[in-house]
Amino acid sequence: MPRPSLRSRTTKRKLVRTPGGRLVLRVIPKKHDYPKCALCGRPLQGFPKMTAKEERRGHRPPTRAYGGYLCYSCLKKGLKEAVRNLYYSA
Ligand SMILES: [Zn+2]
Repeated sequence: MPRPSLRSRTTKRKLVRTPGGRLVLRVIPKKHDYPKCALCGRPLQGFPKMTAKEERRGHRPPTRAYGGYLCYSCLKKGLKEAVRNLYYSA
């Protein structure tokens, strides 16, 4: 009997032939959903769907300001808003 977390029927399995010739069921790790923009909730570009292990190994987000946190359009709107507020307040 596999351990309880592997008994879930939502995990994907695959039959794999071992070097000894046996057929065994291997559990395929689940992939997490794409990271989302903090303001609009749209999936961030530049991120593949990754398993937990791949996420731990690290992935480089876009190198612009707020890369990996805001999508490009929310950042564009925010920067425009900031510049307008700067000019109107001074
Ligand atoms: Zn956004």
